[in-house]
Amino acid sequence: MKKQTHTVLKNVFGYENFRPLQEEIINRTIDGKDSFVLMPTGGGKSICFQIPALVFDGITIVVSPLISLMKDQVQALKSNGIKADFFNSSISPQEENEVINRAIKGDLQLLYLSPEKLISVRNTWLKQLNIKLVAIDEAHCVSMWGHDFRPEYTQLKVFRNSLPQVPFMALTATADKSARKDIEEQLGLTNSKLFISSFDRKNLSIEVRGQVQKKKKLQEIVNFIERRKNESGIIYCLSRKNTEEVTSYLKAEGHSVAFYHAGMNHEEREKTQTDFINDDTKIIVATIAFGMGIDKSNVRFVIHYNLPKNLEGYYQEIGRAGRDGLPSETLLYYNMRDFVLYSQFADGGANSVMQKEKLNRMLQFAEAKSCRRKILLSYFGEHLTDNCGNCDVCENPPKDFEGTILTQKALSGIARMGQTDGITMLINVLRGSNNADIHTKQYFNLKTYGIGKDVSFFDWRDYVIQMANQGLIEIMYAESSALKITPIGWEVLKGDKTIRLTVPTSPSDKKKQQKVAKITTGNDTNKDLFTELKKIRYAISKEEKVPAYIIFNDKSLKLMASQLPVTENEFLAISGVGMNKMEKYGEEFMQVIRKFKSVSKPRKTPTTDKTFILYKEGLSATEIAEKRSLSITTIFSHLSQLYSEGKEVELEKYVTKEIVDKVRIAFNKLDRKVELKPIYEKLNEEVSYGEIRLSVTLILKNE
Ligand code: ADP
Ligand code: ZN
Repeated sequence: MKKQTHTVLKNVFGYENFRPLQEEIINRTIDGKDSFVLMPTGGGKSICFQIPALVFDGITIVVSPLISLMKDQVQALKSNGIKADFFNSSISPQEENEVINRAIKGDLQLLYLSPEKLISVRNTWLKQLNIKLVAIDEAHCVSMWGHDFRPEYTQLKVFRNSLPQVPFMALTATADKSARKDIEEQLGLTNSKLFISSFDRKNLSIEVRGQVQKKKKLQEIVNFIERRKNESGIIYCLSRKNTEEVTSYLKAEGHSVAFYHAGMNHEEREKTQTDFINDDTKIIVATIAFGMGIDKSNVRFVIHYNLPKNLEGYYQEIGRAGRDGLPSETLLYYNMRDFVLYSQFADGGANSVMQKEKLNRMLQFAEAKSCRRKILLSYFGEHLTDNCGNCDVCENPPKDFEGTILTQKALSGIARMGQTDGITMLINVLRGSNNADIHTKQYFNLKTYGIGKDVSFFDWRDYVIQMANQGLIEIMYAESSALKITPIGWEVLKGDKTIRLTVPTSPSDKKKQQKVAKITTGNDTNKDLFTELKKIRYAISKEEKVPAYIIFNDKSLKLMASQLPVTENEFLAISGVGMNKMEKYGEEFMQVIRKFKSVSKPRKTPTTDKTFILYKEGLSATEIAEKRSLSITTIFSHLSQLYSEGKEVELEKYVTKEIVDKVRIAFNKLDRKVELKPIYEKLNEEVSYGEIRLSVTLILKNE
């Protein structure tokens, strides 16, 4: 059986290895036992029931509340040559009959049903099927404790009890401990085993920017998008109005963008979603209503325009980026206004105490000055030992300093102004500005007027927010955001307490932009091929009326562009290429690759051959360099090239794992452009060009 599941993985799905836990779950299911699968979005849950479904000779029922996701999964299955279909409110009575007939005839391996439909047909034709497995997707919907409770789900237990011999599998990406127990009980999974995979999505970078004013925020987002031309992304906003505003702003800047929210009618929403899935619209600005049913694998970034309500939602939303495993970016903006607004919403609502508690945790995360991934994962019960190296805090660790005097200056400013003004006025007074308001209020007479000249406006703002976060000041939102000193604040002012502040992180966008501009001018021929491959993929997707990523995901195309497969066997070796796709699309893609190969320069040059001969004779890299009177960097670059071509060269012995890891971080940060200089600079010129070359080759070849 074990061998069989592996063969299915390779031949049908085109993957070489199981991810952690997948195989164990599959084997347990084939043994007829229940399982509870808790994996992050993009973690690879589907295969856990899809492979048993293919091994069993009967039908697998998949219950899912998300109609668009059903369609997507069924399309993906069909594209791999699997007999699958769905049954939900979106299909016509005629189509319904077809599906029923196929199911009864035994012509379906997987049937997806919405919970409503399942309940309504449970006692009719469903009884005639040879059901071998039932998978309950989005299983958290059964729990009232979760954030997405669906009443229809509570009836699934009856279904479970009617099929006592059939293995059931519950799957979800979100469920804390108490919800887990509840789910098992509600679904009647008495003897299930819990499988929790790591929730760490290493390919997602995490960045948080706080207290950015609207105009600047929009400008930053435009800059962000411009550096990622033609990439897909989602921007989440708090309100419908915001989604429309941000959309028109970005449209005016010439971007391919549409908004999405629950206020639109069904057709409009469908169309917006389809255009996004098909890459016809690049960016969606949406409320959190968007994304539940989206399985698009090549979303390269997720931006939160406002603070999310809780970490569960936040993690799920950022999880929609990078499902194909390629590096993707997430950026969260927050300000205290969002926080206050949400607190007010929560007041009086159901579960208000819990909601507020969750909101507090969200804010703590946003304001944290330590590795964000550590905080996030520990919230989900997983503890990282090392800092992640792929979040803004890791990249720019905060430096703190003795800030008591600075704090006292601000506090005494507030006190002398009678605790009636907001942050801008305070800073203007501290910096000794000369504006009309200051004159009207005669603030230039204050002792604190101008005592903070030496600190920039931007830095003052940051410090004052830090003071608020440390509980020294309260921002009275109900009183035009006037600043008030708290009891702890008075202690500091009196000199009874010392305070540490952290150095503000300056907006590094400008620097980054210049860097990116430099990198993108570099030539990268494989990128041209990648673009070509994307073009045929798009054409095929239009012809077949399926989303482009269903044909092949970005990762598969990238691998094609770097490994240049031109025979069937080589093509099958690409991750994500199974038999069915090989037969259907292989030739079309390989033609493009062959053409590319024939026009691009022959990659092997005599000089690398000479290096290879000496390498095979057992000479060290230094010896080869000496013998050939070439620099060691050149030799490393020869060896890298030979390695990429698949020659037996043991690159790993020339560079330590630590260095490769360092280079990987920098490489990812620089949008994975294969240019050595920016990486060299990013690593503070501490890693040699030769080592960078070797590392990049290893990184590209081994992913
Ligand atoms: P989830 O349902 O947990 O959100 P999916 O099942 O959609 O995640 O899987 C996410 C992506 O990972 C899909 O593109 C899937 O084909 C891919 N995947 C799953 N298992 C493997 C594997 N063993 N090797 C490579 N890719 C995999
Ligand atoms: Zn980190």
